[in-house]
Amino acid sequence: MTVTPETSPDASASADAALRTAVEDGLPATIADLCDLVRIPSVSWAAFDRSHVAASADAVAGLARGLGVFESVEIRQAGIPGGSELGQPAVLATRAARNGRPTVLLYAHHDVQPPGHDEEWESSPFEPTVRGDRLYGRGAADDKAGVMAHIASIRALAQAEGPDFDLGLALFIEGEEEFGSRSFANFLEENRDALRGDVIVVADSNNWDIDTPAITTGLRGNVTFRLTVRTLAHASHSGMFGGAVPDAMLATIRLLATLHDADGAVAVAGLTSRDAATPDYSEDQLRLETGLLDGVAPIGRGTILSRIWSQPSITVTGIDAPSVANASNTLAPMISVRISARIAPGQPAAEAYLALEKHLHANAPFGAALEIDDVDTGEAFLVDTSGWAVAEARQALTDAWGVDPVDIGVGGSIPFIADLVRVFPEAQILVTGVEDPDSRAHSPNESLHLGVFKRAVLSEAFLLGRLNRRTGR
Ligand SMILES: [Zn+2]
Repeated sequence: MTVTPETSPDASASADAALRTAVEDGLPATIADLCDLVRIPSVSWAAFDRSHVAASADAVAGLARGLGVFESVEIRQAGIPGGSELGQPAVLATRAARNGRPTVLLYAHHDVQPPGHDEEWESSPFEPTVRGDRLYGRGAADDKAGVMAHIASIRALAQAEGPDFDLGLALFIEGEEEFGSRSFANFLEENRDALRGDVIVVADSNNWDIDTPAITTGLRGNVTFRLTVRTLAHASHSGMFGGAVPDAMLATIRLLATLHDADGAVAVAGLTSRDAATPDYSEDQLRLETGLLDGVAPIGRGTILSRIWSQPSITVTGIDAPSVANASNTLAPMISVRISARIAPGQPAAEAYLALEKHLHANAPFGAALEIDDVDTGEAFLVDTSGWAVAEARQALTDAWGVDPVDIGVGGSIPFIADLVRVFPEAQILVTGVEDPDSRAHSPNESLHLGVFKRAVLSEAFLLGRLNRRTGR
């Protein structure tokens, strides 16, 4: 659909200037609100006190109400499939669009990862602390800064245009992203009408660096499962029968070795790759960021970023086998491993799983018996970059940062995006973020770069301001 901007270039320049002033004036309050959110230890994992996640939902709902632009602000929960348990509380705030303007669904999450060991933190994880240009604390970046990017950009829009603007908004702040979004699909179904948007902004990803914004256009999917390999009905003395019958360890080692070729590239037929250009990224940078040891080579083929963004990978992430300390001279009858595969954008996770299963059975050494269970999949995702919302977002990022955004892939996955696409196939999805390569989300000393944060808020304010002046969806 073609869309005609309603305002002249001069009018939009002055609207941008008003938004810039509002964002800059509001920044101290925005950071203070962010610090208040970080002080709430809203870890959503099952073993943690749910009252903190509830308190965090209350705090976010209070911020949403304080904007004075929503017709409704509610805290809602949905059931987790396969039981009577409810998911963690989410905040849902809505206002209807008027005068043919689009509706934007703004997503972030208010729950956080566990802090890990306090002694690995330079300052206490739930006491937000500024050192240099960065604000440290669990959730300071992932994703309470995403929450505040939405709140602050709406606040700026309300200040620049008055709270009576035409843009439709649905603010959806999830409470269990870090614990697998278990009630997410039900939540979408139950709140489908409230969540419907022409554009969906998911503020939970990364920027290229602290000076260069990014739009995330590709996310790998994942397939994980337990593989059990059996060769013997019971253990035997390795001196007695070793050399005549295969133990499960030998079969497992040989089987796992078939998953990669001599370059360390994935060697499973049927797992696909995507052909896409990637920005420059040197082997030195890879060595620096991963701690790759001198003398140890990288693995895979193609550009380094294509290996992370556009090709599959397979990692053995766990193994149940006799430990070294308890090793006896025994032929092990059975070994279990956890296999975690990342799937290239463009391939359905179920298809990738079948390719892996077929490969394992076809390569089982000595006719070893295989069993696969505990399968978990998440879909890969490719943003359709042809829509007008992506073009608007690129322009907003360029104007706020003074540099064009880089299209990036992400090696990990945000599986709930596949749910969003399934429930709202018409919506244009934008994956943006407040993080930078040093944010260390999920790790000790997580932090937010305050300059990046300001530019992220400004970009989103520009985007909302332009959508508010736009007719047509
Ligand atoms: Zn996150």
